[in-house]
Amino acid sequence: MLIYQRLYDSFGPRGWWPGDTPFEVIVGAILTQNTSWENVEKAITRLKRDSLLHPERLYCIEEPVLAETIRPSGYYNIKARRLKKFMDFLFGEYEGNLSLMFSEDMETLRDKMLGINGIGPETADSILLYAGCKPVFVVDAYTRRVFSRHNLFISANIGYHEIQDLFMKNLPKDVELYNEYHALIVHLGKNFCKKRPNCTICPISSPEFFLESPL
Ligand code: SF4
Repeated sequence: MLIYQRLYDSFGPRGWWPGDTPFEVIVGAILTQNTSWENVEKAITRLKRDSLLHPERLYCIEEPVLAETIRPSGYYNIKARRLKKFMDFLFGEYEGNLSLMFSEDMETLRDKMLGINGIGPETADSILLYAGCKPVFVVDAYTRRVFSRHNLFISANIGYHEIQDLFMKNLPKDVELYNEYHALIVHLGKNFCKKRPNCTICPISSPEFFLESPL
C-alpha cells in the first residue's frame, strides 16, 4: 500500500480502462496483446466506423473481414480468430449477454475463459476486472519487473498466479484499488522502470520501497 500511495500521489488516477462500454473493454483487452495501445485505438476506431463494436455484429461478421478491419492492431489474423472464439463462447454459453456472463461465479468464469484459445491469465483477468468489475488483480510484465527489482518477494521464475496471490493476500479486496494499482504499475513501467530503469527521477526510488536482498 505504501508503493500504491506513492504512485497514486505522483501520477494521479489513471482512469482505466479506456473504453466506452464493457464490450469495448473486452475487445481492447484481446487486441492489446503484443502491441501498443496506440495501435489498438486505431483498430477500435475502425471497428466503430463499421459499427462492429456490438456483440451481435461481431458474432456474425466473417473472420477475414474482421481481420482486415483490425489490421492496425498487428497479428490481425490471429486476433480476429481470438475475437471470434470469444464471441462463440459468449453466445454459446451466455446467449451473447455480457450481464449474464458476469453474473457467473468469478472463478468459474475465469476457468472457462482460460479455455478459450488465445485467452491467457492476463487477458482473462483484465476482462474480469475492467469489464466485469470483479475483484481480481491483473499481473503483467511490468509488475514482475518492478517488484523483482525491489526484491519484493518476486523472483525471475515465479509464476503468474503466485504473483497475483501475493497482491491479493496483502491488499484489501477492492475493485477500485486493483483497477488503479495495475494502471499505475503500467504507467510506472512505461515511463520509469524501462529495460534500463530511470531510478533517479522515479517516485519509488527511496530505500523505504526496497527490501535489501531477494528472498
Ligand atoms: S525505475 Fe528504479 S526506483 Fe523506479 S520502479 Fe524501477 S527499479 Fe524501482
